[in-house]
Amino acid sequence: SNSNQTEQCLGTDSLLQPFWDNMRINYRDYLRSPLFPVILTVSSYFVFCLPFLACDIMGDRWAWVQQFKIQPGRRPTASMMMHCAGVTLYNHVFLVLPASVAQWAWRPPVDLPEHAPSLLELIAGVMGNLLLFDFQYFIWHLLHHRIRWLYVTFHAIHHKYSAPFALATQCLGGWELVTVGFWTTLNPVILRCHLLTTWTFMVLHVYVSIEDHCGYDFPWSTSRLIPFGIYGGPSKHDVHHQKPNTNFAPHFSHWDKILGTHADFSFCTAMK
Ligand SMILES: [Zn+2]
Ligand SMILES: [Zn+2]
Repeated sequence: SNSNQTEQCLGTDSLLQPFWDNMRINYRDYLRSPLFPVILTVSSYFVFCLPFLACDIMGDRWAWVQQFKIQPGRRPTASMMMHCAGVTLYNHVFLVLPASVAQWAWRPPVDLPEHAPSLLELIAGVMGNLLLFDFQYFIWHLLHHRIRWLYVTFHAIHHKYSAPFALATQCLGGWELVTVGFWTTLNPVILRCHLLTTWTFMVLHVYVSIEDHCGYDFPWSTSRLIPFGIYGGPSKHDVHHQKPNTNFAPHFSHWDKILGTHADFSFCTAMK
């Protein structure tokens, strides 16, 4: 069309255009599949878990790593890891797989836009998604701790471990997994994000969720990279597992600070 030609003449100066062109030309059929986001998030979950799993298994043989353990000496046992792996497998067989088959059967392949988002659009979109999810999950999480029936029925399984480890991230009840999956799928649509922005958010979201539970506060943890305590990160979520009436937000710390549920790790160790 005419407008399309004009756009092509003007070109996009997005830094991401060469990458996006390469992806959409070479991997078109994979990227268009309604299964792609599922495969992307499930495989990134296992890939991101692996290094933390290695740290837990190697234990004191990797002494340098163990200095960053948030709760030293409280390392997961093989049976704890097997339990979490079992819950994750169960959820994937009975929830993720049927949902994927349904998507594959009923959702038509998506159209890949010609233009890549600008780098600024991508960053703003990812931030918008993290902030929106942070708000939604904060409310969900608060309600599931304050209302006894909700806690016992749906969220208690996630609090089986007071010293979290990577595989505990998806040690979740089915209802929690469905809620989280629903928001991470719907929010990018509400925010009208580009597919590349959506996928970047999804992968980053998987990474920070695992980091929250990894049990280590490395010098490169998000809460240390992002200044002024804006971001909660592993040390704050670890406190939530030790003192479950604090730190309900999954990502940022503003909602807990506004509503007075914020707690630092120092406070937690002082309580012991
Ligand atoms: Zn948790
Ligand atoms: Zn909780």
